[in-house]
Amino acid sequence: MSVLLTNIGELVTNDPVHGGTSEPRAGGPGDGLGIVAGAAVVVEAGRIAWTGPASSAPAADEVVDLGGRCVLPGFVDSHSHTVFAGDRSAEFAARMTGEPYTGGGIANTVAATRAASEQALRARGQALVREMLAQGTTTVEIKSGYGQDIATEARMLRIARELTPETTYLGAHTVPAEYAGDRAAYLHLVTGPMLAACAPHARWVDVFCEPAAPTAFDEDESRAVLTAGLRAGLLARVHGNQLSAGPGVRLAVEVGAASVDHCTHLTDADVDALAGSWADGAGTVATLLPAIEFSTRSPYPDARRLLAAGVPVALATDCNPGSGYSSSMPFVVALAVREMRMSPAEALWSATAGGAAALRRDDVGHLRVGARADLTVLDAPSHLYLAYRPGVPLVSQVWKDGARATPPR
Ligand SMILES: [Zn+2]
Repeated sequence: MSVLLTNIGELVTNDPVHGGTSEPRAGGPGDGLGIVAGAAVVVEAGRIAWTGPASSAPAADEVVDLGGRCVLPGFVDSHSHTVFAGDRSAEFAARMTGEPYTGGGIANTVAATRAASEQALRARGQALVREMLAQGTTTVEIKSGYGQDIATEARMLRIARELTPETTYLGAHTVPAEYAGDRAAYLHLVTGPMLAACAPHARWVDVFCEPAAPTAFDEDESRAVLTAGLRAGLLARVHGNQLSAGPGVRLAVEVGAASVDHCTHLTDADVDALAGSWADGAGTVATLLPAIEFSTRSPYPDARRLLAAGVPVALATDCNPGSGYSSSMPFVVALAVREMRMSPAEALWSATAGGAAALRRDDVGHLRVGARADLTVLDAPSHLYLAYRPGVPLVSQVWKDGARATPPR
């Protein structure tokens, strides 16, 4: 059965046919977003079958009038930690009011996640993915990393796999307290039996490479984690350069990671390495997570420097209970425009096609014919409203795999 979505005020496709691009090497949105005014879309068998001016749309079995609203590719949130237990709102409040915080930080989440039942973890993860969908996110990546023991890491990934195909083994999130005196033993666990238990449920391997943080991992440790994951058949991504200009970016490029995430502190050599990684074939995307700088009151990454160097940039939420608990891609787009001086077009491209590149996916993040029919409908005339009206629930309905995934409002 085919469905014609028509009377679309502005359709963002990222499709070169309409003057856009979903190809990161073309420099992202410099070529435009492939916008069609007065548009229509035909959806059939879960895929985009046709896009163009409504006046020349083909017939379909069902017609949906969108009343002049704006339609975007569904957001691709390529970085989240949405399977966990516990509550760290008091930690956030203390951080914001400058009170000394004496809690355990991530150790609290690890303890609560280990203690939680599988049903409780699943229920929380499902609720967060529903919350993301309601805000226009149709593809989400979910990491482990709050178990830090074999059983809990594997449990997190089994649950994440029920929610998304983009699951990431992050046993090397931090060194848990019980291994503080023997980091090598934890590394042995993460690259050995824990990896073996987790790899069947994961597509990706990730590591928090941050020598400046005593519980994170240095360059050699991070390389060991990534190469073990690659040997097990996983693809690499890296948490790097969040707190200082460390080795994360260069290591990510060295192992051919799809993305290095945070990129808050970069040297010129890091920017060159990222740009150079695209010289032949798929390189490493710089994924920026400005909701973390917002929620930790830290300086934002320099998006303009990356864009000027021709590095493909993705935007994601990093939704997690500690450093930033927003699940909202519209909020991230608004932050990217206001705080990182990305244009509204650049930010939207990075939140859709950029996220898809960071996940090495060519079936999402754009609305070319043949793409997954994942569409976000805004109760607004154009994509500019995402940043122009921050904090306003503009997403009026979401379609996933060619079917309505949220009730229209
Ligand atoms: Zn993260």
